[in-house]
Amino acid sequence: MILLELGVEDLAKYPFLKEAGNYIRERGLSLEDISQPDFSKVIQRAKKRVLQAIRLREVSGEIDDPEVEIFSFPLALMLVKATKLDHLVSRFSLAEAMRVEKLLEGEREELVVQIFRNVLKIDLTPVKVEEGSFPAFNYKISIMDYLKRATRFHDIEWKLVNRVVYQGYVYLKTRQLIRLIRQEIDDMIRGRLKDLAVPRLPESLEKTVKEIAMFSPPPPKMSDRVKVTPDRYPPCVKTALDMLKKGDNLPHYGRFLLTTYLVNIGSSIEEVMSLYSRSPDFNERITKYQVEHIAGLRGGRVKYTCPSCRTLVTHSFCFKTKECDDIKNPLQFGRQKFQGEKRKGKKGWMKRQQRS
Ligand code: SF4
Repeated sequence: MILLELGVEDLAKYPFLKEAGNYIRERGLSLEDISQPDFSKVIQRAKKRVLQAIRLREVSGEIDDPEVEIFSFPLALMLVKATKLDHLVSRFSLAEAMRVEKLLEGEREELVVQIFRNVLKIDLTPVKVEEGSFPAFNYKISIMDYLKRATRFHDIEWKLVNRVVYQGYVYLKTRQLIRLIRQEIDDMIRGRLKDLAVPRLPESLEKTVKEIAMFSPPPPKMSDRVKVTPDRYPPCVKTALDMLKKGDNLPHYGRFLLTTYLVNIGSSIEEVMSLYSRSPDFNERITKYQVEHIAGLRGGRVKYTCPSCRTLVTHSFCFKTKECDDIKNPLQFGRQKFQGEKRKGKKGWMKRQQRS
């Protein structure tokens, strides 16, 4: 496998690459050095990265000075982690993922292939025009690689039957391919943040952390109605709610489960929407459309039911506890227990009536 020689501009665009880490190590600078006035541009760009994530939900792809870009990425990670705000971690990783997504869309083919292979472990093949078969597409990936990712999407566009499939490969345009892996880039950046140990910061950087924390939005709140009965929700739904509460980017299947579950137990569209409103990638119009669609108020006017426990296991979104018993669907969770409680309550009420 021939590895591309990466230039400083490439590292500036993709500072999460191993080569960018090596570049930083070779310079041998300490955090103390970076906090000095000579590196004020790096601190300013790191702060800007985080503030753009907070305000615009997307970090800009500008590259005025490649070295500033390379150094400001790990520094921004450190500033975010130092705030100890879980929901900021989610917002930042997604905003950085969006930046990478835009840059990859215009990237040269060989580098896209290399990043996919080395970072995401996906073998990607550019579609050559001379192949003649599918000139409208830019890349092909194996059906397995495609399915692993496409099941996160609810839109019909991503179903395999609506894709061009030939000899074990799915053919994609660059934009579709990049959209397919947004979550993985987000996860990769989030993983870096999770593993990052923040050392004692120099005073000037501590000041920057405080400023960032001041501008950060408050952690998401759940609606009162949802707060009242969380003890009755199955573990998978509780996990989905916890993720939203922390501002984590809930994967597609978690969203589908949460929305179908709440819609089916009678929550209103507004209540469900309010849960997502602080999600890092919240878009009111799209969320409303999706929730209404699931509730059967749009399109074919069919109300979706909750995915089965078996399907949730397949999508790694089952967090089974012994209370789950042998139920087949999260909507059955605790039904017997609560029906028993209801009956007990009724009996108690009848006894009290008889005694009076
Ligand atoms: S068994 Fe079913 S209800 Fe329980 S956590 Fe798994 S998916 Fe949810």
